[in-house]
Amino acid sequence: MINATLKHLSSALAAKHISSVELTQLYLDRIATHNPVFNAYTTVDAKISLAQAQAADARIAAGLAGPLTGIPFAQKDIFCAKGWRTTCGSKMLGDFIAPYDAHVISQFDRAGAVNLGKTNMDEFAMGSSNETSYFGDVRNPWDPQRVPGGSSGGSASAVAARLCAAATGTDTGGSIRQPAALCGISGIKPTYGTVSRYGMIAFASSLDQAGPMARSAEDCALMLNVMTGFDERDSTSLQRDQEDYSRDLNRPLSGLRIGLPREFFAEGLSADVGSRIAEAIAEYRKLGATVVEISLPNTRLAVPVYYVLAPAEASSNLSRFDGVRYGYRAPEYTDLADMYEKSRAQGFGEEVKRRIMIGTYVLSHGYYDAYYLQAQKIRRLIAQDFTDAFKQCDVIMGPTAPSTAFKLGEKGDDPVQMYLSDIYTIAVNLAGLPGMSIPCGFGDNAMPVGLQIIGNYFDEARMLNAAHQYQLNTDWHTRCPQGL
Ligand code: GLN
Repeated sequence: MINATLKHLSSALAAKHISSVELTQLYLDRIATHNPVFNAYTTVDAKISLAQAQAADARIAAGLAGPLTGIPFAQKDIFCAKGWRTTCGSKMLGDFIAPYDAHVISQFDRAGAVNLGKTNMDEFAMGSSNETSYFGDVRNPWDPQRVPGGSSGGSASAVAARLCAAATGTDTGGSIRQPAALCGISGIKPTYGTVSRYGMIAFASSLDQAGPMARSAEDCALMLNVMTGFDERDSTSLQRDQEDYSRDLNRPLSGLRIGLPREFFAEGLSADVGSRIAEAIAEYRKLGATVVEISLPNTRLAVPVYYVLAPAEASSNLSRFDGVRYGYRAPEYTDLADMYEKSRAQGFGEEVKRRIMIGTYVLSHGYYDAYYLQAQKIRRLIAQDFTDAFKQCDVIMGPTAPSTAFKLGEKGDDPVQMYLSDIYTIAVNLAGLPGMSIPCGFGDNAMPVGLQIIGNYFDEARMLNAAHQYQLNTDWHTRCPQGL
């Protein structure tokens, strides 16, 4: 059961081979056994999960089940879920119980899915290794001495370790794709505006987007069908007809034009990752795709631009955590200003403080024009690079991350090295495009390698088609870490 796809689980539930309560209990038992090692979950609440499973069983018995009814999913701890502790990986929200559901949570609820628990993450989604969480490091199931990637590292670890059927993540600069790559699973960041951000704790609002993390592209498509849709509570949610993201999965790939950006295969890419990507591209040629070299000339500016814009937005978004309205308040203070200062000094971790300081600086009088405004202009150029590239190809492919999973602590003292983990993913967020990562082999250290597929705006179905056809012809996505 733990290796079954969502489709198989759905038919097993419909045929009553297993009940949702049994399936949920199976995962809860696995979490009890393995979570002490991987630390993938921050909160598990068996009572709520089993009650939801019971309700799902009743719905199945009544013949009212949808494709995800009764299936247990893990939810990144960035989504407010009514009655659940929602921490965003921070001491600031260490005992915050959400009073309402995020749009994503209510969509899963409406589908009759079971919430298995909240997954660990980098604090306020800032990080690429899951080492900035107040609730401790998350471990990679392929080697617990190595990081799972971040910030959706808890979700990636939980999916890879079979501690849930699938999970949600969020991606501001790579936080779905990079951990998916490092843990050997599939994950999608949809086109900006496709999934409502309502109730998703904001990091950098113009970049944040939620998406599915699962063991296959096909599973991701089923989850996207549930997660997407217009929501008037998010002013950037797009009003479009509901799509069936599975519709093109089985289309042959002959004629597909794959663009390979020259800049993604330059200095900084590990040789083993480069070889696996080349092998994946060779497989695509066998499947009938053609390959063109393209250029995304502003690639090298993506990381610096992101580290102006994302902290700027974060400094503004995180001003709401003041010790009054939400979460942590310092126990001792002299007056109101002192209470703000102490609550924020004690409630936020190092990386979050670093971002707030950078963000406040680039927005301040005298620096706004030099940094923030310039970065916005370059963001436009980066988006234009993709628009030009998509005149020559249907999808863009390349590595998701420059290396496989690194050791815990390895990049701890060097924020810039850490920031470079997202060098191939960040531009996609800046442009608002959809991107995904699928497993395509293993590196020299036997850790998973991820292939990134970038689509044009709203072209998720084509991206999923390319991913699914590859997964029909390879078995990397079915590999399971030893002992699990
Ligand atoms: N690693 C990037 C950062 O630290 C991206 C994080 C994300 O996508 N949430 O900001």
